[in-house]
Amino acid sequence: MLQPRNNGAAVQQQTTYKPLTLITPTAAMSPAVHGGRAKCLQRLIRLDMPVPVTVALSFDAVHEAAIGNLPDMDELLAPFGDAPLLSVRPSSQDPDWGGPGAILNVGMNDARYVELINWLGEETATKLYMRFVQSYAIHVARLDPDEFHMPDQADAKGLKAMMATFEYETDMPFPQDVETQLAEVLRSMARAWDGTTARLLRQAKGAPADAGLGLVVQAMASGTGQGECGQGVVQFVDSVTGQPKIIGRYVSSHLAATREIGRETEGAIYLTRDTRGPSLEDLCPDQFAQLISYGDLCRKRLREEMEIKFTLQDGALRILDAVRVQRSSRASVRIAVALAEDQIIPREEAVMRVEPAALSELLHRQVDPQAARDVIVRGIAASPGAASGRIVLTASEAQASAARGEPCVLVRRETTPEDIRGMHAASAVLTMRGGVTSHAAVIGRGLGLPCVVGASDLVIDRKSGRITGADGRSFAVGETITVDGTTGQVLVGEPKMLEAALDGAFQTLLDWADDFRDIGVRANADTPADAQTAANFAAEGIGLCRTEHMFFEGDRLGVMREMIFAEESDDRRAVLDRLLPMQRADFQALFEIMAGKSVCVRLFDPPLHEFLPSDKAGLRDLAEQVALPLPEVTERVHALAEYNPMLGMRGVRLGIALPEIYDMQARAIFEAMVAVGQKGVAISAEIMIPLVSAMREVELIKSRVDAVAHAVRAKSRIDLDYRLGVMVETPRACLRAHDIAEHADFLSFGTNDLTQMTYGLSRDDAGRFMSSYVQQGVYAEDPFHTLDIEGVGELIALGAERGRTSRPDVVLSICGEHGGSRAAIAFCREKGFDYVSCSPFRVPVARLTAAQLALLGQISR
Ligand code: PEP
Ligand code: MG
Repeated sequence: MLQPRNNGAAVQQQTTYKPLTLITPTAAMSPAVHGGRAKCLQRLIRLDMPVPVTVALSFDAVHEAAIGNLPDMDELLAPFGDAPLLSVRPSSQDPDWGGPGAILNVGMNDARYVELINWLGEETATKLYMRFVQSYAIHVARLDPDEFHMPDQADAKGLKAMMATFEYETDMPFPQDVETQLAEVLRSMARAWDGTTARLLRQAKGAPADAGLGLVVQAMASGTGQGECGQGVVQFVDSVTGQPKIIGRYVSSHLAATREIGRETEGAIYLTRDTRGPSLEDLCPDQFAQLISYGDLCRKRLREEMEIKFTLQDGALRILDAVRVQRSSRASVRIAVALAEDQIIPREEAVMRVEPAALSELLHRQVDPQAARDVIVRGIAASPGAASGRIVLTASEAQASAARGEPCVLVRRETTPEDIRGMHAASAVLTMRGGVTSHAAVIGRGLGLPCVVGASDLVIDRKSGRITGADGRSFAVGETITVDGTTGQVLVGEPKMLEAALDGAFQTLLDWADDFRDIGVRANADTPADAQTAANFAAEGIGLCRTEHMFFEGDRLGVMREMIFAEESDDRRAVLDRLLPMQRADFQALFEIMAGKSVCVRLFDPPLHEFLPSDKAGLRDLAEQVALPLPEVTERVHALAEYNPMLGMRGVRLGIALPEIYDMQARAIFEAMVAVGQKGVAISAEIMIPLVSAMREVELIKSRVDAVAHAVRAKSRIDLDYRLGVMVETPRACLRAHDIAEHADFLSFGTNDLTQMTYGLSRDDAGRFMSSYVQQGVYAEDPFHTLDIEGVGELIALGAERGRTSRPDVVLSICGEHGGSRAAIAFCREKGFDYVSCSPFRVPVARLTAAQLALLGQISR
């Protein structure tokens, strides 16, 4: 038995909405029952627009039609009078979910054909009839399209042949009766909606599994008469840029009668006056002006940019349909901002209307969605945007290529710090190994460099200088490929690209977003260039500066290696003295760029092997550099090797075992503060200790850092505003957060390592099996990509709660790669965190996402 609540809802729907509704200003209609198109037609009618007679079929009516229970056909046809010509269009709840194609001229038959010959002439009338038979045969009777080609010349003979084919294939003459035709059209459109492909396509666009389809049956406005007759389509903004522009086509009836008007319709004339040819504005100035006023009315009252389909019927304008203008990401931002600036929608709504991922597209070049894609291999989409270039297999080839001014794609098994210079020189990076938090991915995102990682089907043969893709095709060094870091595809050649577009509308939208957002957004930025990008995107500070990345640049790698090779503390100190001014200059540059904001500097956290060469040539270079015999260098490199470097002598362990390194970094930070302070730049510095697992680690480092601060303060006589905090990225640090927080002003959760350690899953190797894990539903998503709220999230929540017990005002944030994602921002808001930190290019996306979540929170309260 039905429960009362369901029962009530069912009764309400049955009594309120009928299966067939003649669309009038007051008819009971809803997008959830009749679909967006039907509801929009009612709105147009309410705005007094001349819409031809239209009947809407509800989702239920269409569902019944699919299982053979047609609606009352007499009732459906009654409003259209005798011998009507009708169009049938889909009306899904959200227009983006699509639906079967429209069928036009339902009701066309031999008698109507004779009438049309008198009006349109034999050729056009024949073409119209043949097109109807063709579309009925293919889309309604589901016959073989190859049997129903339109001949170049439409004549009575061709029509007869087509009719004969229809009869041969179906054992029935072509139906002449409008009721039969319409019934079959409704049935076929209803069934098409239930097909597997249609279902998968709309589900990919976010439609629920049980999404319904409505249909609208409308009188074809194809009048006869002396006045102008024809069909057109118009929109009032450019779909690519979103700028105001009248775009569309108009086709006089002899051509228009046979098909829907599209962008490329043959025989179309311009809408606005144009030196290149005739225009509707010249032909019918009054109707043109009326059309413009309808466009304006739609924008103001439907609160949207609409594409309007219209006809002229013996000189009278009719509006057939209006749908949301198709738009690029750039246009979606421009349109939302313009509607709010014109006070048609509130700013909150403009902020809600733009999909945050659309901003990410604007920040990078993209492969034109219309371009053909010839895929060589697929991997993980690790850093968005697309770039083309010649294949190079080493960092030095990348640098040489850049020096020649030739864009290149650096293809590596995986990247290491030695590749940094090559990555800077390359247009894009492709690796065989690694996941979304691998070296290539992190650096790629920081640089805004398109990057695909973990392309495990790729074979790289350095000896022959070739790479081979998933299907066995191979490409030589120097051949051009394209890396699409947005989709994870690697493509042959150089498809057409769409340029990045940061315009005023983009900035305005983000400024509005900041007014609504209630959580901070900082950037992970390691170099002055990153910091500048972060500042350009209005990050509220730096949430993570990975200082080891500063040593991958220029001559520093060499000095760093000397430091690693120093056996004695004094030798190490001597090398660190050379590194000190470099670090000081780095921090000074960051502080100046981020003037007035917080900068969180993470002390050194590299697995040391990353700084050591892995091949013979590298070992030889190193031997030369440190002036030691090759065997000695090789032996020392082997001695430094660890079985599992990610769990080895990293982070604070290094700081405790070799304290001079952190001493030097702390000094560099404080001296840089003094230097910028003397220039009048205020900075709030934060020093973060990585990979902590025990409170004593924090105590030891804190006492040394405070001692350095004391020394710098004593010498400079300048007060230093700094805070010391902990990067919480081991499960134990979460569990012991209460005693760790006693010594930490802030706790920043490093979700990359925390995910790695919670799952016991290597960040760098997970790519190998992740797709099969996700495909088989072992994990819902790659946890390095989407924050695992259930597991990792629970540890973070526990850490935050325990941290607050000993220090209620402890500043909380996350700074792993998840930082900019919707799931992580929602989680951090819910737990009352202070900010999220993400790569600079994700900052705009995070600002918009945070604002949308805050606005959604207001709505649901
Ligand atoms: C982390 O572990 O989440 C983090 C941000 O640090 P890294 O990626 O440098 O290990
Ligand atoms: Mg980490």
